[in-house]
Amino acid sequence: MRITGAVLERCDAPAPYAESRPVTVGPLELGPPRAGEVLVRIEAAGLCHSDLSVVDGNRVRPVPMLLGHEAAGIVESVGPGARLAIGQRVVMTFLPRCGECAECATDGRLPCSVGSAANGAGTLVGGGRRLTRVAPSGEAQEVHHHLGVSAFASHAVVSETSVVPVDDDVPPDVAALLGCAVLTGGGAVVNAGRPAPGDRVAVVGLGGVGMAALLMAVALGHEVIGVDAVPAKLELARELGAATAVGPQEAVEQGLRAPVVIEAAGSARAFETAYAITAPGGTTVTVGLPHPDARASISPLSLTAEARTVVGSYLGSAVPSRDIPRYVELWRAGRLPLDRLVSDRIALDDLPAALDRLASGEALRQLVTF
Ligand SMILES: [Zn+2]
Ligand SMILES: [Zn+2]
Repeated sequence: MRITGAVLERCDAPAPYAESRPVTVGPLELGPPRAGEVLVRIEAAGLCHSDLSVVDGNRVRPVPMLLGHEAAGIVESVGPGARLAIGQRVVMTFLPRCGECAECATDGRLPCSVGSAANGAGTLVGGGRRLTRVAPSGEAQEVHHHLGVSAFASHAVVSETSVVPVDDDVPPDVAALLGCAVLTGGGAVVNAGRPAPGDRVAVVGLGGVGMAALLMAVALGHEVIGVDAVPAKLELARELGAATAVGPQEAVEQGLRAPVVIEAAGSARAFETAYAITAPGGTTVTVGLPHPDARASISPLSLTAEARTVVGSYLGSAVPSRDIPRYVELWRAGRLPLDRLVSDRIALDDLPAALDRLASGEALRQLVTF
């Protein structure tokens, strides 16, 4: 079928992207769903830092690639053997889980090796690509999938293992955020940090993922410290229930400490800040994805003498089919006001400018709506 989608053409375009325009919006041909796959009409898709990381070359992925990995939509048709029903609303997740590899047996601690291999190759877990187009050169060309989702488009074909069904009362905006920001940020708290009742939780880096971690910690009744260099984000953190919201330098100078600290900024400096404000006996969870060459400096002595733990939480240590229903329940109970994470609603054509807003730190979650 003919679809419209936003394709990343190159990974080395200079910012601002509104001028260099590495993302083009145009027609593509989408093949039908194969065994175990579904065709989804996209309702909402969030722009995440992991999209920016592909555009700016921090995470190298094959191009051309149809971007977008945080989305929700409606199942329009199903391939052979698929169990989902037509008309079902689904959350799309960027972490397919085959359920059969050794990594899938680690309760979310490690990402599925089969899904990770497909994500790295820009294919679906069922093998190959479903996206083709006429390239600017005039030749027919395959287009890579982004993390098994490719949601910056009117429709997507995805593996059933890349989606989690949700009830109709969960609106598309909320459902989309559940697929990445909440899965990652919420999971960093719930699955990796595991604060005890009454534990204080600090979050360093208040983008979409960090703010979702903050919301989750507040929802679970913890006293929360929000840390970010951008004053507007500290303001929002307070509105969302943070007891304290300060800049990184202030947090260290004031001697703030928490038994569980989440680093969600994806920089070595943020990791050092998060480690510095972790209390003796506490746990520093790092969920950000810095550049592969980044190096951080911490005191090994403090790790020993203060009996500290540093935990890497890849993708929030998530098992989407287990975690998303839990988060839906918290949202339904009014404890996860996810609509507050949406800073803008945009059209596909606005993506280059939206990438600039994200890079500048001024945007939280910008949602493409259809
Ligand atoms: Zn994401
Ligand atoms: Zn697996």
